[in-house]
Amino acid sequence: MSRAVKDALERWQRGSRSVLSRVEVLALFPILVLCAYAAGGPTLVVAAAMVLPALLVVQNLGRPVRPGVFAPAPVTQGPTRSADRATVLAMLGRISAMPGLESACFVLRIDDWDRLERRLGAEAARDLLDECHARLCAALRGDDLVASLGPATFGVVLHPIAAARLRIRDAIADRLRAGLATPVAVGATSVRLTACVGHAALRNPGPSGKDAPDADAVLAGAFQALEEARGAGPDSVRSFVPGSPGRQRTQSQLSNEVAGALASGAILPWFQPQLDMRTGRVAGFEALARWQHPTLGVMTPGQFLPAVENAGRMEDLGTRIRQQALDALKAWDRRGHMDLTLSVNACGSELRSPGYAEQVAWDLDAADIAPERLIVEVLESVAADARDDAVMATLAALRSQGIGLDLDDFGVGQASLLSIRRFGVSRIKIDRSFVIGIDRDAEQQAMVGGIVSLGRKMGLDALAEGVETPEEQATLVELGCTYVQGFGLARPMALSDTFAWLETQGAGMPRSGAGRHLRPAE
Ligand code: C2E
Ligand code: CA
Ligand code: CA
Repeated sequence: MSRAVKDALERWQRGSRSVLSRVEVLALFPILVLCAYAAGGPTLVVAAAMVLPALLVVQNLGRPVRPGVFAPAPVTQGPTRSADRATVLAMLGRISAMPGLESACFVLRIDDWDRLERRLGAEAARDLLDECHARLCAALRGDDLVASLGPATFGVVLHPIAAARLRIRDAIADRLRAGLATPVAVGATSVRLTACVGHAALRNPGPSGKDAPDADAVLAGAFQALEEARGAGPDSVRSFVPGSPGRQRTQSQLSNEVAGALASGAILPWFQPQLDMRTGRVAGFEALARWQHPTLGVMTPGQFLPAVENAGRMEDLGTRIRQQALDALKAWDRRGHMDLTLSVNACGSELRSPGYAEQVAWDLDAADIAPERLIVEVLESVAADARDDAVMATLAALRSQGIGLDLDDFGVGQASLLSIRRFGVSRIKIDRSFVIGIDRDAEQQAMVGGIVSLGRKMGLDALAEGVETPEEQATLVELGCTYVQGFGLARPMALSDTFAWLETQGAGMPRSGAGRHLRPAE
């Protein structure tokens, strides 16, 4: 076909698509044939019967054939890497003008991306996102759209289908997550990804085209559902329910509410247990902040810590959580669970504050709790900044009081095991990104095994966090991890729920040598 003919054909195809690709055109076919008979007899009937199908064939030349579906006008951009928010909105907008057809919009965000990016470095992280993009495309059909909507956030719009039912949308969300679940080789290591997905249906009202859905609203619905999913924890899926009160509230709105929430106790600790694998008993709990918001429900730190930071209240938050958590320790004591430890998280600004160690000592004294039962979790990235003399001074002051130090999110930052010895840390918390799927990944096992055994030689215990399955737990114990923490054992829970949970664990009985400062069993 010459270039000129091809161009003319393409121009005509584009111009005629809106008319010829409508299902309603088929209904005109018998009328056309009858008119032809009345006007010119059998000869014109034969001609008319050939012209319309021929027009349809020519109009569809070069378009992918989709068996069993009357293909509507092409609305997709295909799996291009440059597709963005505008592309998503444009595709949703075009589909919303197609009466009788439906679609769905998905927004997917990779869990713990910030940590992963820090762990892998910017270049490897970019490659990983490219791989994710390719996998999402592979999990979909060629004419669905995959777009990039921000850091580690992807948008998907389905090519129009007859009915975008919840069941179908959930199945596609599962397919997208499954596409990412196979470990990805990154340099000498491999990572296993999980993601949260929010989805929203695009429903067209019918042939009248009245009240056609708004593309912006569909995308906003998918984002709202994503926030719900993220609030439920990693690897979660939520569907947008029209009319549901959005949990999304701008961080600046939330910032205005922080002070009141801290004062009223609406921001409070929940507790996640840590198991000592040498005894099989509960060793202690980590206090994790929750905001019981009157209209938005229970929020996790990912949803409100930025607002607390904006409000300049991180230190207040730390104080409130620590004091309430020490009260919880007293409550467990009163029920006979006398030897539990309590871990609290401390952020960089707290550790830099000159009065922090003294304030902690004062809180322990006021609650009449031995310093050895309190553990302060310090992010590896904060502790590793050896130039920060203020942090070093605080760590030394905490240690000298007998307070334990755990190195949180170990493996994500840049601290080497040898360099952390001088911080006086007694336990390393192996980050969840090393734990996910460790039972199925020999490289991950070699890496964690190396960390654990080097740590042991230096007198450090290892706690694996984010342990979800018995298989992961068994592998970690085999590799020498002394403590485990994760959804597999229990999710974080309100204080009132810990009492019944502890009863099911048989904790609180005298434990021989279950203290956290013991050497792990060889
Ligand atoms: P983190 O200290 O690393 O806490 C562990 C996080 O992993 C918690 O999320 C916990 O719910 C989650 N997690 C525990 N087990 C599992 C599991 O098996 N699977 C999965 N997928 N996740 C698991 P959470 O409670 O949302 O806390 C997030 C982060 O917020 C914490 O990470 C910590 O850095 C910060 N944070 C929480 N409470 C406080 C606080 O009182 N003060 C400060 N400064 N930071 C806090
Ligand atoms: Ca922690
Ligand atoms: Ca952690």
